[in-house]
Amino acid sequence: MSAELLNGSRLAQRTRTQIRKKIKKLTFTPGLAVVQVGDDPASTLYIKHKQRDCEKVHFHSEVHRLPANISQKRLIEHVETLNKRTDIHGILVQMPLPEDIDKEAVIDTIAPHKDADGLNPVNLGNLLINRERVTPCTPTGIIRLIELTGEKIEGKHAVCIGRSPLVGKPVGLMLLNRHATVTYCHSRTADLPAQTQQADILIAAVGRSEFVSADMVKPGAVVIDVGINHIDGRAVGDVKFEEVKGVAGFITPVPGGVGPMTRAMLLENTLKLAIGG
Ligand code: NAP
Repeated sequence: MSAELLNGSRLAQRTRTQIRKKIKKLTFTPGLAVVQVGDDPASTLYIKHKQRDCEKVHFHSEVHRLPANISQKRLIEHVETLNKRTDIHGILVQMPLPEDIDKEAVIDTIAPHKDADGLNPVNLGNLLINRERVTPCTPTGIIRLIELTGEKIEGKHAVCIGRSPLVGKPVGLMLLNRHATVTYCHSRTADLPAQTQQADILIAAVGRSEFVSADMVKPGAVVIDVGINHIDGRAVGDVKFEEVKGVAGFITPVPGGVGPMTRAMLLENTLKLAIGG
């Protein structure tokens, strides 16, 4: 048996086509502002991809490059200025920020109705009480990939390896909101394989290359590999793809799985904010 591949690149392309159709009906252009502090090469590349995505769906996008030694106060003032701009509907502050800047304080500053990443505490709080509107991009992309299987989420046992506020915790909440039974695993979990072997849906968001092996996976499970680890210039997931695909029912590849969907969900969030904000 070989698992069915969940093609995130193709689904992301379809999502962009739908967005293009929707914005044809608008009388204005949705605008996304990305704030970069310093010149971290990985961040620069991610931002370039986001700009290219915006071009593909005819959004306005702008990058605000600020010096690495900017004070927290100045950075917050900059975000506040963007909050007031009527032509900017979504704001994203690219992480990581320099160590002397309190990233939570910066995220708190982004107006909830312009929070393209869905990481402001107001939007995360709404997720907690099952009032989903703008939800974090990676978890939302994961849900879309699970939906692509055609399998019901309701009643399934979902296991998330990872509990970060960016991925693990919100995706677990989104699965719970869709009536899955959710188990969170993390670095202090005792007997991790005993937990993962119960999973109808297994989310690997660990940040360790090829961490999940075939013996940890329930036959037929939906396996979502969130990890992006770099080995010799090559992107490697958190799942041992070759062996796990022999056990799982569905699996996402790395690259071409969760990554493109994360970017597509940023566009979708920006559109939602533009229409509703
Ligand atoms: P993170 O903040 O480092 O969180 C990793 C989680 O894994 C933590 O909850 C940690 O537990 C848990 N963990 C670490 N070692 C473990 C172990 N031995 N056993 C069980 N759990 C363990 O990472 P993240 O931001 O959630 O990202 C996870 C991965 O996804 C990374 O590879 C990242 O690059 C990737 N990512 C991809 C996308 C995408 O678009 N594809 C987006 C975001 C992130 P503790 O909480 O106990 O420390």
